[in-house]
Amino acid sequence: MFRGVHPEQRRRAQHDRRLSKKNKMAIPIAGYIENSLIEWEGNIVSIIFLPSCNLRCPYCHSPHLVQPSDRLETIPVENILEAIKRNRAWLDGIVISGGEPTLHKNLEELIGALSSLGMKVKLDTNGTNPDVLEDLIRRRLVQCVAMDIKAPLREERYEEVTGVSYDLSSIRRSIELIMSSGIEYEFRTTVSPAFLNESDIVEIARTIKGAQRYVLQGFKPNNCLDNEMLNIIPCPVETLRQFAKSARAYVENCFVRGEEKKELCRQW
Ligand code: SF4
Repeated sequence: MFRGVHPEQRRRAQHDRRLSKKNKMAIPIAGYIENSLIEWEGNIVSIIFLPSCNLRCPYCHSPHLVQPSDRLETIPVENILEAIKRNRAWLDGIVISGGEPTLHKNLEELIGALSSLGMKVKLDTNGTNPDVLEDLIRRRLVQCVAMDIKAPLREERYEEVTGVSYDLSSIRRSIELIMSSGIEYEFRTTVSPAFLNESDIVEIARTIKGAQRYVLQGFKPNNCLDNEMLNIIPCPVETLRQFAKSARAYVENCFVRGEEKKELCRQW
């Protein structure tokens, strides 16, 4: 059957058949973007969105993903893996986002299937599940992690921005794990003037002093979990740039989302 076929093609075909037999995993997928050039710098990626979240950030732009998966229409994982298999010649990797992906017990299985297709994996997380994160990093299952830091690490401030009370030792542990992981990572904060000001951003930057990269994302008043947020006027980009400049006292590579290259140009 494989006569005349290059050994590598044969290996891949056998591997793909094994994979498709194996891929009867139960993990709800709430969304899929086939290609993106901006989600993982320097990489062409597809994005998989997993539903459910344990936080309730009022400005959340994915309110549909915050709810439990049994209330959502989902895409069969087999369809996603087939699409990735078709596109793998030009794809560098996959971003797994949410919701909060670490809430899913079959996350590791999904990552395993993606790795088997030759994809490297970036994980987006809110950092509330350091045990899962530690396991994925220790076993080299993810090649990049992007973690949200919602507010200065004081309980009342975190609760204000995330809508739930939370033990911040998990967040601190996730930060430590990521910073000592040796893999590519970024921390990021959504800046809504309803919750954060310049000294808050500097305080966060001090907490992650020496980090690889810290990205400030401007809040946008559309499609928010809490409709009250639609009345909030976002910070002008000049204000975000000023916040980033102040944060650079602690994290040299701090910039406003989408402006990293511009910052480099200014420094030249
Ligand atoms: S913005 Fe907040 S509520 Fe929305 S998915 Fe992220 S962590 Fe969850």
